[in-house]
Amino acid sequence: MQRESKENTPILVASHNGTPGFPAAMEILRSGGSALDAVEAATRLVEDNLEDTTVGSAGLPNLLGQVELDALLMDGETLAAGAVAALQRFPNPVSVARRVMETLPHVLLVGEGAARFAREMGFAEAELLTEESRRIWQERLGNTDLYYQKMRDLAATLAEDPEIAAEAYNDGRSVTGTVNFIARDSAGRLAVATSTSGWAWKYPGRVGDTPIVGAGGYADSRYGAAACTGRGEMALRAGTTRSIVLYMKMGLPLWNACREAIKDLYDLVDPYASGMHVVALDAAGTPAAFSNRPGITYLVQRADMDTPELRPRTFVDEQGRAEVRPALVE
Ligand code: ASP
Repeated sequence: MQRESKENTPILVASHNGTPGFPAAMEILRSGGSALDAVEAATRLVEDNLEDTTVGSAGLPNLLGQVELDALLMDGETLAAGAVAALQRFPNPVSVARRVMETLPHVLLVGEGAARFAREMGFAEAELLTEESRRIWQERLGNTDLYYQKMRDLAATLAEDPEIAAEAYNDGRSVTGTVNFIARDSAGRLAVATSTSGWAWKYPGRVGDTPIVGAGGYADSRYGAAACTGRGEMALRAGTTRSIVLYMKMGLPLWNACREAIKDLYDLVDPYASGMHVVALDAAGTPAAFSNRPGITYLVQRADMDTPELRPRTFVDEQGRAEVRPALVE
């Protein structure tokens, strides 16, 4: 693993779809701003990216054609966190999550309560179902009987070949997808943000790992931070990001901690078992990214680099063997 850190050089890591968020976040980090502000700003820009059908404004809807968004923000300095889940009609859930963290004695608001809070905080409402999302949803799932048939087919195919099933099921669009950002600022503070529209055509009210502290994301400036994308049910059951940080606290180096957490996923008995991918930073600012699938990439930029670099993640197989393989198309 490359040693990346120079004590005070800020760094940002992200899932492969994080590109739109880098310039704004790097500006914040370079001017001495906080990791927390950087990851929130970066996440908002991805939520606003209409090309990304896995998060924010253009996220694909649930079974009923409703766009339900999940997001989490965690401050590694104080271990404070804020999150929203199944939030409808508000395009920047990460900022609503921040307000939850800063104004309520709570961590997570869901559904109508989260929307009510967003309204009270003055966030603007918007219709999030784009024409394109509506078209795809109507074509495939407007009839709910068809949905259940699709879910049965998907379950059967997923067990055999998750990659192909996901592709066939969704016409080559990601069925799932999330954006992850982790930053370390010039003061050595860590923060994490995650945001997603979840599993497309999900059962209404379904919440994955993304807004759950310790599953979709976790940050503790003393040890490190991690965030997940992929089949959220797996990270929920394994407590994947908390595991990574705890493994580091217990003495494992970042690389070993990530490998161990991916290896844990293979112990889950899960007929839908599918891809899970983590990005992580240790307290010194060293980045890493691991996956239970080969060919997955992530983005890294230190403040002394001009642009983010797309790097391959380390693939971990069922026996815990880890290797970096050349990136395939994600
Ligand atoms: N983890 C997200 C979820 O399960 C989706 C994804 O990252 O693919 O909702």
